[in-house]
Amino acid sequence: MPTGKEPKGNGNDTKTLMSFIIMAVIFTSVINIFMSAVTSRQTQEISYTQFLQMLDDKKVATVERQSDRLIVTEKVDDESQVGLYQKHNTYIVGAVDDPELTDRIIESGAVQFSNVENNSVIYEFMVSWVLPSILIYIVVTLLMRSVAKKMGGGGGPMSFGKNTAKIYAQKETGVTFADVAGQEEAKESLNEIVDFLHQPEKYNAIGAKLPKGALLVGPPGTGKTLLAKAVAGEANVPFYSLSGSDFVEMFVGVGASRVRDLFKQAVANAPCIVFIDEIDAIGKSRDNQMGGNDEREQTLNQLLSEMDGFDSSKGVVILGATNRPEVLDKALLRPGRFDRRVIVEKPDLKGREDILKVHVKDVKLGDDVDLNAIALGTSGCAGADIANIVNEAALRAVRLGRDKVNQSDFMEAIEVIIAGKEKKDRILTEKEKKIVAYHEVGHALATALQKNTMPVQKITIVPRTMGSLGYTMQMPEEEKYLMSKEEMIEQITTLLAGRAAEEVIFNTVTTGASNDIERATAMARAMVAQYGMSDRFDMMGLESIQNKYLDGRNVRNCAEVTSAEVDSEVLKIITDCHKNAIDILKKNEGVLHKIAAFLIEKETITGKEFMEILESENSNDEKEKVNIEF
Ligand code: ADP
Ligand code: MG
Ligand code: ZN
Repeated sequence: MPTGKEPKGNGNDTKTLMSFIIMAVIFTSVINIFMSAVTSRQTQEISYTQFLQMLDDKKVATVERQSDRLIVTEKVDDESQVGLYQKHNTYIVGAVDDPELTDRIIESGAVQFSNVENNSVIYEFMVSWVLPSILIYIVVTLLMRSVAKKMGGGGGPMSFGKNTAKIYAQKETGVTFADVAGQEEAKESLNEIVDFLHQPEKYNAIGAKLPKGALLVGPPGTGKTLLAKAVAGEANVPFYSLSGSDFVEMFVGVGASRVRDLFKQAVANAPCIVFIDEIDAIGKSRDNQMGGNDEREQTLNQLLSEMDGFDSSKGVVILGATNRPEVLDKALLRPGRFDRRVIVEKPDLKGREDILKVHVKDVKLGDDVDLNAIALGTSGCAGADIANIVNEAALRAVRLGRDKVNQSDFMEAIEVIIAGKEKKDRILTEKEKKIVAYHEVGHALATALQKNTMPVQKITIVPRTMGSLGYTMQMPEEEKYLMSKEEMIEQITTLLAGRAAEEVIFNTVTTGASNDIERATAMARAMVAQYGMSDRFDMMGLESIQNKYLDGRNVRNCAEVTSAEVDSEVLKIITDCHKNAIDILKKNEGVLHKIAAFLIEKETITGKEFMEILESENSNDEKEKVNIEF
């Protein structure tokens, strides 16, 4: 590991040492000059005769004989006259070879008489120069070490500002492709790399060069880090990893030296995998930045040159991971560097089921658990969410004192992940409860009474921690990859039906519909601006998605005037859908009252209970499917 003692012969270290010494010397000089200024105020030189006179007057307190002089301090009767820094006024007397001196001093009754013969130049030098220097050196070293530690990473005293990040090295990752489910295409692309690491000779013999690097691209939590580890595990080679942000420090040059270090170690331990996680932290495009960032540019340049420099036939493969591929510097993506791109998408239905299987391996399951149903209910979830759901379900089973996890645990766990935990202490007033109930039943009725919508799974008016006061859970019967215009319109209608119910029943509106409004508007806007679903703009692309893998804002591609027209087109869709929702609910006011009353009583009802009431009601007056024209 690069932490610990500094390597020998490093120019950097000699420089640091020199500056330490210079600093200590300067500091000590300043102290010495200051001290002598203070003492010299009260140290005067007097003649030997004057000294003898003082002895006669019995004014001498102490005499100290040094090799070439006497240091004499004076007796002072009045304490107020005593100097600030010394007990007595001090005089220096040039040494005279006087054999009777000792007698004279004793006679005069001086308190102390000492003969400091060895108080030599060397001693003085040691005390006033070397000792402070050493002390300063120790203090500064300790200080720096604590600073370096704070910046993440131990490191010897000299490695300050040097490589203090821990390169995360694993001999064996213990992860294989079997642990990564639902990413078959990604695994296939990476398989070649595994094979290459197993037997590079096979490729070298034919003259084939393998890509030096592959970039794993996809949304957060889809298993990019996991896949990189699995490649190392499959190939049975060491795994060196460092996160992109580890490279970027406040000191210019640190990142670059870390890159150098990482590659030095990797080449020494080839074959192996070098993994740079969140590579966008250093790989951000160098242009389009205000002011730029020297440190990051240096680090990136170092990375680029290291990638060019090493010999891939030795068996070092570099993997990078990012969820923002569009910000990466072009130089990083050119052939010879990260020239291969492996897309790691959010899993589909089958993928989610497979991921569930991986994660429930060590979980005791009840007989009623239906993994397919769970996979259906987790549409849009990434692998990390699913792992989280399985764990939440297991925790709930423990909490409820069961020894097996059953389906209800999983369903509740999905809700916890999507909507947050139940907030039992939030008490709604009777009136609020009633409004929330009608609002939710409004959603549920709208979805049930339209053609192409998802069935209702559950309706609840128990508040959740993530802000909802109640919600209607829908489950798709099958996973869909395409959505028709009709389906989108119906979904917007469903979203607006909550508010519509409030209007129909209470003839008032509340703040409860804000999330519905946001989602409905976004959907309507996408219809007009992205999917070419409006007559007004035909198939013109007016907006594009900026961050494909993170939910970023869309970028407008049209003039401002056009944009204003888009708004009015969106408004038209929303108004139509809103009207529709009101129509549906007015026609079914009877059943709306009935189900809402049931919901208020029970607080949570299942989709089955909901459909039973709806059907018994509709068998009276023939069930009417609402057709929407648009
Ligand atoms: P990313 O690096 O893409 O953000 P990770 O690789 O760190 O995501 O995934 C986090 C966790 O989610 C993994 O440790 C694993 O438990 C789980 N996970 C994610 N994707 C998968 C998958 N495809 N198969 C199995 N588990 C997965
Ligand atoms: Mg990751
Ligand atoms: Zn709502």
